[in-house]
Amino acid sequence: MRDIELYAQLLSLEDPWFVDDVRLSVTERRVEVLLAHHEGRRWPCPSCGAELALYDHADERRWRHLDTGGFATLVLARPPRVQCPEHGVLQVNLPWAEPKSRFTKAFERFAIDVMKETDVSGAANILKTSWDECWGIMERAVARGRARKEHRVPALVGVDEKAARKGHSYVTLVYDIAAGSVEYIADDRKQESLDPYFGSFTPEEREGIRAVAMDMWEPYVNSVRAHLADAEQKIVFDKFHILKHMGDAVDTVRKAEHKELRAQGLEILSGSKYLWLYGEENLPKRHRDRFCALKALNLKTARSWAIKESLRVLWDYHRLGWALRFYKQWFFWATHSRLQPVIDVAYMIKRHLYGVRNYFSVARITNAAAEGVNSKIQTIKKMAYGYRNREHFKTAIFFHCGGLQLYPV
Ligand SMILES: [Zn+2]
Repeated sequence: MRDIELYAQLLSLEDPWFVDDVRLSVTERRVEVLLAHHEGRRWPCPSCGAELALYDHADERRWRHLDTGGFATLVLARPPRVQCPEHGVLQVNLPWAEPKSRFTKAFERFAIDVMKETDVSGAANILKTSWDECWGIMERAVARGRARKEHRVPALVGVDEKAARKGHSYVTLVYDIAAGSVEYIADDRKQESLDPYFGSFTPEEREGIRAVAMDMWEPYVNSVRAHLADAEQKIVFDKFHILKHMGDAVDTVRKAEHKELRAQGLEILSGSKYLWLYGEENLPKRHRDRFCALKALNLKTARSWAIKESLRVLWDYHRLGWALRFYKQWFFWATHSRLQPVIDVAYMIKRHLYGVRNYFSVARITNAAAEGVNSKIQTIKKMAYGYRNREHFKTAIFFHCGGLQLYPV
């Protein structure tokens, strides 16, 4: 009878449940664990908790449990039903599995651990389940974690947009910068994408928000203005987004110049796109000689690059006064560069200067705190089966980056 005790322990069974029998089929490589309960007990209604007499039993159900020595292991039982005067005839909650799940809680816990380490198809292979079953465990885990999550406004909020796939299908993400977790995801990157996040808090709760890091993107700015008093003192335009705009300007200059040079039969800028986009110290060694030669050629691209690289220094300043002094010099240089894409970005920064200043006077925050999240999201995107559609993409982000308590209790 030792196997009966063993499984009772493994399933953490408590009175009134017990293991009635364990059947082993060597040919089918399968273990079946039959559960039963003592008679004469009262059962809580799953809706209201009222203690009720047994009404009848549902048909026998089976739950996949953790394998035993490589043998597929199934738990079998007939779930008791109660008749609640208020809620009608219902199946009672079972301690080893969540309602509607075809897996034991122990199996779901293990599946969650596996899915944390690999994509859904990989996990399905390891766990010997179908893709849909594995996905169902992930969806339930996320729903459970979100239901449990404390309703709390982060002091430092990050707002970001992500392309859900190649092309222009975006999602808006909200981070808790201090916790490094994704708090909220919505379709598109409009004001209406962000409004419901702030709307989920009362005006008093929203006063707990000290700063919001984001791109110079008017729909997001408008949403913050609509929901936060003193929005101009709370918005911090994210360093990496600003530099991304500068990088795009450099690229626009390069494209135009490459075209001009090509017309003269010069191919010197061919294949140089990424050389200009690296931060100088990150340029891979194998490109350094070519890049030095290019820089020496008095190209418009090289000038725009130098202006971009110079701007990066801004965020190294500790004091607002020094930062502004530097900015004024930089702005003069950029706006006298006769490079229109660079001039455009310089004016864009000027229009948004209040939120650039706030980095020095309110909170030195960037969305880089969410860098770990970003690299995870990149991985999620690469998982071919990880998101068959945008809803799946969101579920996977919450699963991997939501900072949620995912396990069944
Ligand atoms: Zn009830």
